[in-house]
Amino acid sequence: YGEGRVNSRGVDLSDPQALAALGKEMDRAAAQSWEATPIVGGQARRDGKAASQQVMDPADNTRVVGEVTWSDQDTIEQALARAERAQWDWDNTPAARRADILRRAADDMESRMGELMAMCTREAGKSIPDGVAEVREAVDFLRYYAVQAERNFSEPQVMPGPTGERNELYLRGRGTFVCISPWNFPLAIFTGQVSAALAAGNCVIAKPAEQTPLIAAAAVRILHRAGVPQDALHLLPGDGPGVGAPLIADPRIAGVAFTGSVETAKLINRKLAERDGPILPFIAETGGQNAMIVDSSALPEQVAADVLYSAFASAGQRCSALRVLFVQDDVADKMINMLAGAMDELKVGDPALLSTDVGPVIDSEARDMLEGHAKAMANQARTIRRLELGPECANGTFVAPGAFEIDSINRLQREVFGPILHVVRYQGGHLDKVIDAINATGYGLTHGIHTRIDHVVEHISRRIKVGNCYVNRNTIGSVVGVQPFGGEGLSGTGPKAGGPHYMLRFATERTLTIDT
Ligand code: NAP
Repeated sequence: YGEGRVNSRGVDLSDPQALAALGKEMDRAAAQSWEATPIVGGQARRDGKAASQQVMDPADNTRVVGEVTWSDQDTIEQALARAERAQWDWDNTPAARRADILRRAADDMESRMGELMAMCTREAGKSIPDGVAEVREAVDFLRYYAVQAERNFSEPQVMPGPTGERNELYLRGRGTFVCISPWNFPLAIFTGQVSAALAAGNCVIAKPAEQTPLIAAAAVRILHRAGVPQDALHLLPGDGPGVGAPLIADPRIAGVAFTGSVETAKLINRKLAERDGPILPFIAETGGQNAMIVDSSALPEQVAADVLYSAFASAGQRCSALRVLFVQDDVADKMINMLAGAMDELKVGDPALLSTDVGPVIDSEARDMLEGHAKAMANQARTIRRLELGPECANGTFVAPGAFEIDSINRLQREVFGPILHVVRYQGGHLDKVIDAINATGYGLTHGIHTRIDHVVEHISRRIKVGNCYVNRNTIGSVVGVQPFGGEGLSGTGPKAGGPHYMLRFATERTLTIDT
């Protein structure tokens, strides 16, 4: 890629030998019981007054996956104090050394593919292909931010000196960054935030989603083993109000990187604005009301395959997932029938089986919200298809994939984070109305276009206000360093993860002017 880096190859799931070896590794790992605790100063803290809890498998709520000890006020305080003390040394560690540490962590993560995938499957309900993609993305983030650290942080940029002075522009770490991550990419997004912040010379306090602390703890252990100083990175498992909120309120922090819902992002933004002390950088990557426009020139078979993957892979629990499909009216009946037929082939069930397309949703709260939405749709809209769940889904938090025809995107008040697709017909001459309606949602994350007409591609892609626009393909699975990812408007502040500007937001700029 012209920068001394290639993306991780992952595992070729069509190779029977590679698959068998991976299966063995996953089985061996899944036979163990995993543990997450606060990790402060490199030490697992089980000694506080904080409660512990069993972590259950979302595909089978009778199966214990591991145990988590939550963080208490004492561990939060210790993490803040230690990170503050460690900042000078870490920021003054040469960028090349920080980059080497990240590369070592990437190699270690890649060598633990089976173990980490087993955790993705058992703790987060990820399918096998999703697990491979998750570990690959985490590895890619580590290697990509290592390159960016070396490129941007090694030497100052010497500015022009027409006055005879020497002017140097430095990038430095800001201080303690709080990284708050969601459960839907429990390894990749967690690792991406943390590694960018560390590579830029910040100490980090990471708060993973309460549903996925086990895999976050595994990532922190890998980073420490690779050489991240023990006091430069701390893990605080816990919920948002109990752990995230006090961190955000603390005057010792220097910035917040957040990925999650727009509601939580707005809450954190308000809390940051109300604080005394410095104005902090806030990087927020949030949800979407992602649409796809399909016109009458599109290839129906390809549309059906791409819609199916975009809407139902990962049980629809991707920020980039397709929520609203717009189909031109003269091909709508044909497309909708084809889509319904394709949905019938989806296999819902145990994510550890390679044959499974759609695994569980993350927990009973998510399932109840999605079932409530599907019920409302069944009353208010035309049901295109609602699959039925088999007995293999009886013990887990599964939601049957569904597709409903609605008359307008305005029917949806918020992101529906699961395997429910909405379909809207539009008249051929009304493309601009469709674009305006999508833009009017205020979200701007991903968008899909299926057409064989070049000027339609240009017309839509210029007007649609989204961060990532995909043409004649699915809308999920951006590649680090190749397709920088992130939205605008309600979907996020930018800069894009896996892109060349992301790390700069974690840094402060200092100009040194010397009269020569
Ligand atoms: P969420 O409920 O907003 O939670 C995200 C994180 O914020 C969790 O760690 C959560 O902790 C924490 N949090 C909650 N309240 C907080 C508070 N008062 N102070 C500080 N932290 C707080 O989102 P989610 O359900 O985990 O994730 C799904 C959402 O993420 C979807 O909207 C999806 O579109 C979005 N997402 C966006 C991207 C992107 O790149 N744009 C990528 C992935 C996901 P607890 O939940 O543990 O309490």
